Amino acid sequence: MPETLFAEVALPLPISQTFIYSVPSSFKENLFVGSSVRVPFGGRKLEGYVVRTSSDYPEGLKGIKEIISVSPQGSLFDAQLFKLTKWVSDYYMAPLGEVLRAAVPGSLARKERKGIDASLSEAPPSWIAAAGQKERMELTKPQREGLELIESSLESGGFKVFLIHGVTGSGKTEIYIRAVRKALDSGGSALILLPEVSLSTQIERVFRDSFGDEVGVLHSYLLDSERKKNWLDARTGKLRVIIGARSAVFAPLKDLKLIVVDEEHETTYKQGDSPRYNARDVAVMRAKLLGITCLLGSATPSLETYANVKKGKYTLIELPERVESRSLASVEIVDMREKERKKQKIFSELMETEVKEALARDEQVILFINRRGFSPFVQCLGCGFVVECPHCDVPLTYHIDSLTLQCHYCGYRMKIVENCSNCKGSIFRYGGVAIQKVEKEIEKLFENARLARMDLDTTRKRGAHRELFRAFEAREKNILLGTQMVTKGFDFPEVTLVGVISADTQLNLPDFRSSERTFQLLTQVAGRAGRGDKPGKVVVQTYLPETPSLVAAQKQDYAEFFEAEISERKELGYPPFSKLIEVELSGKKEELVVERSKMLGAALKEEAHGTGVEVLGPAPHPISRLKGRFRWRITLRGSSHEKLKALLQKGLAKIEKKKFPSSLRLTIDVDPL
Ligand code: ADP
Ligand code: ZN
Repeated sequence: MPETLFAEVALPLPISQTFIYSVPSSFKENLFVGSSVRVPFGGRKLEGYVVRTSSDYPEGLKGIKEIISVSPQGSLFDAQLFKLTKWVSDYYMAPLGEVLRAAVPGSLARKERKGIDASLSEAPPSWIAAAGQKERMELTKPQREGLELIESSLESGGFKVFLIHGVTGSGKTEIYIRAVRKALDSGGSALILLPEVSLSTQIERVFRDSFGDEVGVLHSYLLDSERKKNWLDARTGKLRVIIGARSAVFAPLKDLKLIVVDEEHETTYKQGDSPRYNARDVAVMRAKLLGITCLLGSATPSLETYANVKKGKYTLIELPERVESRSLASVEIVDMREKERKKQKIFSELMETEVKEALARDEQVILFINRRGFSPFVQCLGCGFVVECPHCDVPLTYHIDSLTLQCHYCGYRMKIVENCSNCKGSIFRYGGVAIQKVEKEIEKLFENARLARMDLDTTRKRGAHRELFRAFEAREKNILLGTQMVTKGFDFPEVTLVGVISADTQLNLPDFRSSERTFQLLTQVAGRAGRGDKPGKVVVQTYLPETPSLVAAQKQDYAEFFEAEISERKELGYPPFSKLIEVELSGKKEELVVERSKMLGAALKEEAHGTGVEVLGPAPHPISRLKGRFRWRITLRGSSHEKLKALLQKGLAKIEKKKFPSSLRLTIDVDPL
């Protein structure tokens, strides 16, 4: 009798268990560890991944089902990638099946979606591909010295992490390119991670100039079929440079020698739902597993990364000045409290004048506001009632483009209300300032403005982002107004003025990282000005002008900011001086959520006794209801990740015995941001 083969399969379900299936003999030839398979599961059919095969009959298991089909792509994970996904699963306490699913483009596992017009599948537009091999500029001294260190690490091999701390415009990208060249020359490949898809256009072009057809991108704006193609081409070695966002950290490059994480401090590297990994940290781990070089770059490194430099774990490369002796932009802070408040204007006198002058000189302006829509809340003037989302504990935002009220958390939308649901009044105040209101104001104030607005709403359509970018670069537009999409990475030499409409949205967040975020945001945004021959200027409007992180950002002095912030963290016991795990319970019945949160909290506190781990909470989430679910959370804080994890596992085991109702959802966030 021929031996039966069994496969252990990880399924993308929120459970840590794997499942055993038998392998029909016809599949034996093309089923491998790492293969994607289709299996029956509780009346459904699911896509999973083979994590182990064996011909031993698993004892005590009855009713083993058969695998339905096997993907023809073979193993989607080599041993190293598999190890990496296992580490992610283990460290972030996420089911392996979910990690594996996050690591491959959907279409490799799923059946191809039908109805996609193949002609839509675009090659890079000609203006991206057109440029030929550029002559390389001469490196500055700090660039050259930094590159030498990196090159010798690439030559000798072995795991090494560099932090390139370079002010905006100091030529970090140029170092990346030369390091990638070195990796490719020795027969290897390189992975470049970017915090945001919107940046890939510009970086892609710079890399194409140097590496032509060997460059491929991987991000969510691509069609499934394109993503799949690039992914497979990376695997065969046809593409040797992959540029991508978060999930590209799992790209299956052949002979990977170098990983670059640009703007390593960005929170977008952290995945919002399970598996809640931080791609920067996974990148470092991947480099460690492979024994290769990793470059982290930033003008405003995260405190965690900089602390690793101070501890001697990472090697620091500093680029303290802009190239070609360009000076950093000067930053002016406008106190909106006194004279400006009475006027109730969006643009202070200074901001208005500066914009007018820049436009008159035929230069370009970037304006930043971190809020979508027209006004963040709508209030009835009869009774004071604020229109809220029916599913979330947040006010609805008015969008003038579509005359709708929208929830930015769950996507709920409705036509604007004519009468207050509370008092039937019909006069509303459209309160606060968001990007569409600024847009209207610009149209009123600056008659020679040619405005490009860049936010989620104007870039939803495929290609829209590229078109806005192109129009601004070609100077068809002279003002780029945008949300955080416009703060990072952009390199437009004709931009001489950057205006921050309000620095305060960031500062008001209830988070121990809010001053770090403010410093980063303002420094980044200031970095968009004066990148060409003409000097740049930045105007920042705020109601909180004395805030230390604002003052440090004005001076663009990272060292000063770091010293002040790190001592505060130390005093308060926050990362990098501690580790955190956040646990959230959510459900539709508030009492149940509260009751079980308290139960879990008590169990954790009991277990924590004498271990040095603190259990903070349970307490309601700042947005206490989201998508109809009430949310409570508990934060674990302690000196080591292992301790926190062990404690959490014990605590969970304890209450699991008391049967958790399936209507409750438990989420675990390791290293929350
Ligand atoms: P960063 O990423 O540090 O903000 P970039 O790498 O984008 O800076 O460099 C800013 C600009 O300076 C780019 O236009 C780049 O081509 C140019 N540049 C980089 N290195 C040099 C150099 N050594 N000499 C002249 N120009 C340079
Ligand atoms: Zn909502």
